[in-house]
Amino acid sequence: MEDGFVIVGAGLAGAKAAEALRQQGYDGRLTLIGSEQYRPYERPPLSKGYLARSQPLEKAYVHPAEWYAEHEVELRTATTVSALDPAGHRLRLAGGDELGYRKLLLATGSSPRSLPLAGLDAPNVYTLRTVADSDTLAESFASIRRLLVIGAGWIGMEVAAVARQAGTEVTIVEAAELPLLRVLGPELAGVFAELHREHGVDLRLGAQLREVVVEAGRATGLRLADGTVLDGDAVLLAVGAAPNVELAADAGLAVDNGVLVDAGLVSSDPDVLACGDIANAYAPFYDRRIRVEHWATALKQPAVAARSMRGETASYDELPYFYSDQYDLGMEYLGYVEPGGYDEVVFRGDRAGREFIAFWLSGGQVIAGMNVNVWDVTDPIKALIRSRRSVDRARLEDPAVPLDEL
Ligand SMILES: Cc1cc2nc3c(=O)[nH]c(=O)nc-3n(C[C@H](O)[C@H](O)[C@H](O)COP(=O)(O)OP(=O)(O)OC[C@H]3O[C@@H](n4cnc5c(N)ncnc54)[C@H](O)[C@@H]3O)c2cc1C
Repeated sequence: MEDGFVIVGAGLAGAKAAEALRQQGYDGRLTLIGSEQYRPYERPPLSKGYLARSQPLEKAYVHPAEWYAEHEVELRTATTVSALDPAGHRLRLAGGDELGYRKLLLATGSSPRSLPLAGLDAPNVYTLRTVADSDTLAESFASIRRLLVIGAGWIGMEVAAVARQAGTEVTIVEAAELPLLRVLGPELAGVFAELHREHGVDLRLGAQLREVVVEAGRATGLRLADGTVLDGDAVLLAVGAAPNVELAADAGLAVDNGVLVDAGLVSSDPDVLACGDIANAYAPFYDRRIRVEHWATALKQPAVAARSMRGETASYDELPYFYSDQYDLGMEYLGYVEPGGYDEVVFRGDRAGREFIAFWLSGGQVIAGMNVNVWDVTDPIKALIRSRRSVDRARLEDPAVPLDEL
């Protein structure tokens, strides 16, 4: 049989790529290979509704179980690809089998980062990436009283919110002076610090960790550099994720903070593409490469990758988009700002009541926007960023001025 298209990584990006290929009329052999035992699912619920046990796993799946057979997608779950030979157009699977491909899409996602810290191997130190991780954490909420979270990033903060709602005491240890400081800057990071403190989270900011305290084989606390010991019954390590680039790097593809790809998501090998969390892709709007670990990128890049695989000229040029839910705060963020890469943040609406839009400005232009408990504004914010026009600060602040008239 002639070699077909192969997708490695059966997460959101991999599943959406299979869907896009079939929608676009590719009718050749199509194989989707993933290490996990589950069919492709979306991860955001794992730290929100699914973790809180208010949303069933069924709602997180990308497609119904029968979709793959119906669309002649050969889904191989619990299968890991261990090596890639771009010259021979071949893949080796962990069991030793080999598979040829005509075009290959890498969508291998990310894995939780770790820290060089003693005690992290205790069985009640968790990370959160998979359904199994979320199940373990949810089960632990039923039996523990105090959760210690290392890292005040999105996942640490979302889990803290769910844990508090389950009645668990939460302490978050963060090296920076505010949660989410690198991604949001101090103006907005403070909003999240207040939100969590109001809900009873003990935020230890600017804290240096020395070790996980382990007694009788289990983690019982965190020791800080100043000698303080914070007691807990379980630890969540949530210090970000790193792209799974080993296959690509070992195969000699160009890799630098992800697999380097052009705007069409084609790597340094014309028959190998990459999308989703692992793709460090040239973004025409920014005239540079960016790598985005966001759900929306894994959702939308695959259609472009599919076009490129089919030999069309295609380009991915969406603005990065992210959302989060914590307690009764829902937010969306659109745009891209390097840490410190803005002049000021302008607020429109009720900041104290957490119902506002924040705009990041650089040289008088809006470069990012975040709506908090305000909805249906991403289109005008997107248009504003894309227009690159200078905005009047007073009008930007004034909720009476429609966004599309700025
Ligand atoms: C708990 C959690 C909450 C999140 N919440 C949000 C949110 O609220 N908003 C937001 O915008 N983003 C959120 N994200 C990020 C978002 O889920 C990711 O950006 C998205 O999952 C990326 O999709 P992907 O398909 O590129 O990678 P992944 O979802 O990581 O899927 C990659 C798959 O490839 C498999 N794989 C890796 N290597 C191999 C191999 N060699 N062989 C076979 N298979 C392999 C992996 O096992 C995995 O199943 C969250 C992430 C997590 C973990």
